[in-house]
Amino acid sequence: MANRQTILDTLREQPDVSVLIIGGGVNGIGTFRDLALQGVDVLLVDKADFCSGASAASSHMAHGGLRYLENGEFRLVHEALIERNRLLQNAPHYVHPLPTTIPIFSWFSGMFNAPLKFLGLLDKPSERGAIIIKAGLTMYDWFTRRFRMTPTHVFHSRAESLVTRPGLNPGIVCTATYYDAWMPYPERICIELLADAETSSDKARALNYVSAIDGEADTVTLRDELTGETFTVKPQIVINAAGPWIDFVNQALDESTNFIGGTKGSHLVLDHPELHKLCDGHELFFENKDGRITLFFPLLDRVLVGTTDIHIDDPEQAICTDEEIDYMLDLIRVVFPDLDVNRSHVVFQFCGVRPLPSSDATTAGQISRDHSIRAIEPDSRLSYPVLSLVGGKWTSFRAFSEQVTDNVLARLKQQRLTTTRDRAIGGGRDYPKNNVDRKALIHETAVETGLEVEHVQTLFERYGTRVREIAAYLAAEPDTPLGYTPGYSRREVQFLAETEKVVHLDDLLLRRTLLAMLGKVTPQSLHEITDVLAAVLDWDDARKQAEIERVIEDWRFRHGVNLAPLAV
Ligand SMILES: Cc1cc2nc3c(=O)[nH]c(=O)nc-3n(C[C@H](O)[C@H](O)[C@H](O)COP(=O)(O)OP(=O)(O)OC[C@H]3O[C@@H](n4cnc5c(N)ncnc54)[C@H](O)[C@@H]3O)c2cc1C
Repeated sequence: MANRQTILDTLREQPDVSVLIIGGGVNGIGTFRDLALQGVDVLLVDKADFCSGASAASSHMAHGGLRYLENGEFRLVHEALIERNRLLQNAPHYVHPLPTTIPIFSWFSGMFNAPLKFLGLLDKPSERGAIIIKAGLTMYDWFTRRFRMTPTHVFHSRAESLVTRPGLNPGIVCTATYYDAWMPYPERICIELLADAETSSDKARALNYVSAIDGEADTVTLRDELTGETFTVKPQIVINAAGPWIDFVNQALDESTNFIGGTKGSHLVLDHPELHKLCDGHELFFENKDGRITLFFPLLDRVLVGTTDIHIDDPEQAICTDEEIDYMLDLIRVVFPDLDVNRSHVVFQFCGVRPLPSSDATTAGQISRDHSIRAIEPDSRLSYPVLSLVGGKWTSFRAFSEQVTDNVLARLKQQRLTTTRDRAIGGGRDYPKNNVDRKALIHETAVETGLEVEHVQTLFERYGTRVREIAAYLAAEPDTPLGYTPGYSRREVQFLAETEKVVHLDDLLLRRTLLAMLGKVTPQSLHEITDVLAAVLDWDDARKQAEIERVIEDWRFRHGVNLAPLAV
């Protein structure tokens, strides 16, 4: 991917860009890729790391959103289901089908409430019984009838469910199982989209740790967050893809808007082998007594639990509180009442803000999850239009990006050259069609590089078909496994640091790998990885210490992780 310093140097000499995208979450990055493929000169900046805002706080689900049917959001659910299927097809290395089981506690509840909600005559969540759930799942299956990628739903009797799912709450009347999809590495999908974009066009450039801080006449002022240095660019069109920060960015551009009414959502990651076993590879998706939908499912060897939905004004203040932790742990006991689950099982927590449209709905669940472009046309203050990307699901980022790209192309009077509908992402390209092909790829790569088959298998699970490129890099020079970071070698970390725009230590731990989220970072591994990054990124001792302190402080505040500093 293009080098940060080279991009900065070029911009100082040549500040004109056709499109400036402010915000490198999935919607900004998706639009960046689409515009790059159309040959548009596009610059993307993010004030922090790529995919570190709302896009890093999702429930890791690629889904249609069953419950949005109740709010009458048929267009959104239909689109999200089609996009879920496209993700299964275009990113098979990072998006996998997920059987999802709903424990159901009544037959008829919600039969009268659901139509009232649909008509807008009821504005608080209420219990959904088997009949309502059956209607929703039938519609869910119907939406994908022409492009089916997963099995249709089935219901199981109470007796059958209690036999197949030991420990399940005996208060159920039945269970329903349907399919959605999960994404172990959403952040890596974003990094691969960026890499695909920059590889496809030398007119596409992306910078992390660069903020948009001001707008005037035909310029936008940017600040390099590493050095504090400011510089200006001259865009023809600005895309405000700042998610929950959209109104703050518009304010910086001297435009007052009230587009966003964000709600925060928290998640926990549990190290709980018994719960992991009870999930049996399924997501458990259910409603609490307050009508809020919640879920948990196996995230590799851990269990991901989510989520809450609480109004918040300032996204910087979004952290998972003790009350939310207790609330989510209680939820697990709704499904498995006898299970011992407590705070000692929590190895990581995270929280983010949904960039929902501002709304006067009385409950967060009623606010539309659909996406829209809000345009501020050029005026006496700014000579460029500002297109704000409001709302949207992770799942439907491609469709949203396509809509934004078409809008931009019309403004630039350019034709669309290609579509992203069937375009594979990163290591999803030339993905093996079956087990035989997969084994052959792994075996051939092992023979070519001399790496152990098990090692190549792990790399394939992490990077899909990019395994060839990465295994070749690992084999090119002597390599050693990291002593405190099981499953990683020195050269693998080096590869990520050299090729994936890693600026800070936490970029690697939180977003290029799942090490932090799975609770696998120890004080020793923190130091070990810092040493590898320091060699690649040219950090002196002071910078190494600053990076470690940054992680310790931020993770204690944001992720409930206490990493005691090592004595030096
Ligand atoms: C708790 C929760 C659970 C969710 N679960 C799911 C799910 O399971 N499935 C699903 O499909 N969707 C889910 N979503 C929704 C989805 O994650 C978001 O809608 C989507 O990620 C929004 O992406 P975005 O690019 O618009 O915003 P963001 O990802 O927030 O990106 C905005 C970026 O703008 C940057 N920025 C802000 N200000 C500036 C500035 N001045 N200069 C430069 N950059 C700036 C930020 O650093 C940030 O990286 C969930 C969301 C949340 C919060």
